[in-house]
Amino acid sequence: MVSRVIPVDEFDLVIFGGTGDLARRKILPALFRRFCAGQMEGKSRIIGAARSDHSTQEFRDFVTESIREFNGGTHCEDGTLESFLTHIDYVQIDALGTDGWAELAEKVEEKRIRAFYFSVAPSLFGALAERLHEHGMADSDTRIVVEKPFGRDLASAKVLNAGLAQHFDESQIYRIDHYLGKETVQNLMAVRFGNMLFEPLWNSQYIDHIQITVSETVGVGGRGEYYDKSGAMRDMVQNHLMQLLCLIAMEPPAKFDPAAVRDEKLKVIRALDPVPQDDLVRGQYLADGPEKESYLQDVGDTSSLTESYIAMKVKISNWRWAGTPFYMRTGKRLKARTSEIAVVFKETPHSIFGPESGNHRNILTIRLQPNEGMELGVTIKEPGPGGMRLVDVPLDMTFADALGPDAEDVPDAYERLIMDVIRGNQTLFMRGDEVEAAWAWADPMIEGWEDRGDKPKTYESGSTGPEEALMLMHRDGRRWREIRT
Ligand code: NAD
Repeated sequence: MVSRVIPVDEFDLVIFGGTGDLARRKILPALFRRFCAGQMEGKSRIIGAARSDHSTQEFRDFVTESIREFNGGTHCEDGTLESFLTHIDYVQIDALGTDGWAELAEKVEEKRIRAFYFSVAPSLFGALAERLHEHGMADSDTRIVVEKPFGRDLASAKVLNAGLAQHFDESQIYRIDHYLGKETVQNLMAVRFGNMLFEPLWNSQYIDHIQITVSETVGVGGRGEYYDKSGAMRDMVQNHLMQLLCLIAMEPPAKFDPAAVRDEKLKVIRALDPVPQDDLVRGQYLADGPEKESYLQDVGDTSSLTESYIAMKVKISNWRWAGTPFYMRTGKRLKARTSEIAVVFKETPHSIFGPESGNHRNILTIRLQPNEGMELGVTIKEPGPGGMRLVDVPLDMTFADALGPDAEDVPDAYERLIMDVIRGNQTLFMRGDEVEAAWAWADPMIEGWEDRGDKPKTYESGSTGPEEALMLMHRDGRRWREIRT
C-alpha cells in the first residue's frame, strides 16, 4: 500500500478568497479528496471567506460544482459529498474593512488547530494579518498559508514578510510553492539521500551538467494582462525552478526536518553566481495560424518586453558544484508539456573499446510530469555478432508501472501541502529568508534587462524555444535534451 492515511487532528481552515479561482480549481477539490480518503476527522470545518454575499447554502453549491468539475475522477462512496458539505461554512468578509470579522472570530472561537489560507492578492496579506490580530485570531496556535507570487522583487518580498512578521512567527507561516508538494519532487530527496548509489557521484567530479526543463504548450491565455507584469523569470524561475535546483544541489541535511532542509536550500541560493547577460536568453512566442495569437497579441501590447520563455546557464560557487553548470529553461507555447530534470554524467575517463565505440554517458532523468518517474540511461553492448558496439538503453521506472494501482492513490500537491499545514510540518514550504535570497539573486538580472530595454527573441509556437537558447548549449559543446512528453 503506497498511501497510508493518517488522520489529522480536528481543525478549522478558513479560506480567504474561498470563492476565487484557486479555491475552486485546487483547494476545495483537494480537501474533498482528503475527506474521501478518511484523513479529515470529526468536526473539522472549512470556512469560505470572501467579499461576495453568499449564504452558507450558496457556498456549498459552489463547493459542489467545484468538486464535480475538478475532482479529477476520484471515486468516493455514495453520500460522501453530502457528508463533506456539512463541514462547509461561509462568512462574507472584507479584508480591508470591518465587515464579517466579529462573525468569523466567533466561528473559530473553539481551541483547536486554526489555519487561515490567504488565497487572495498579495496586496491583502498585510491587511488580513492585521485584522486577524485585531480580532484575537492571531494566537500561537494559528497558522497562515500564503500563495505565490510572494513579491515581484526583493523589496516587495521584504514588505510582505515584514507585514506577516508583525503578528506571526516564522514557524506559523506556510509559503506555498506547489512544486514542493509534487510526489516526484519529494522523491528527489528520497533518491538522493535514501540510496548509497547516487550521492558519492553527486558532484562536479562525475556530473558534467544538469538540465532543468519546465515547458508548457499553452500560451498566456486569459491571464495575459497579469502575466505580462511578471514574465517567465518571476513567474517560474525565481520560485519553482529555483526550488528544484535547490533540492538537486543541496548538501545532505542532517535530518528531514524543516529547519535542516531549508537551511541547506538557503545555502545553495546564496552560492549562486549572478548570471551574466551572455548566459541568458529570453523569448516571446509567435502566432501559430489565425487561432493561436502571438505573445504580443495575447497580452494586447505590441511593445511588451516581457518574456514568455527564458533559458540560462547557472553556476553554483561551492566545492560540490564548481565546474558543473545548471542549464534551466522554461516557457510557454513550446513543443510539449513536460517537466524534467536531467543529470548528465561525464564520459568514462578512457574507453577500452576504442574510438569507434562512440561517446556514451549516463543520464539520470527525473520526470515530474507527465508519466512521473525516473530513467537511468546506461551503456550496454549492442546485441549480436560483429564486435563490441555500444548502445545506450534506458532503465525505466515509471512510478505508475512500478507501484501499480497504488500509484493512483498518491495525493496531489495541494492535498499533501494542506495536510502538512494542519500537521504543522513546514518542510515543504518556503521560508522567508529563502524567498528573499531568491529575489536577491534574480533582481539584478531583471533590472539589467529592464534598464537596457532588451527585446526578447522570438520563437515559433510549438518549437523548443529561440535559436539563441540552442546556442547557449552548443557553444559549451552540449545539447538540450529533446522536449517531449
Ligand atoms: P480570484 O480573483 O479568482 O479570487 C480572489 C478571491 O479573493 C475572491 O474570492 C474574492 O472574493 C476575494 N477577495 C478579493 N478582494 C477581497 C477583499 N478585499 N476581502 C476579502 N476577499 C477578497 O483569484 P485566484 O486566482 O483565486 O488567486 C488567489 C491568489 O492565489 C492570488 O494571489 C494568486 O496569485 C494566487 N494563485 C492563483 C493560482 C490560480 O491558479 N488561480 C495559482 C497560484 C497562485
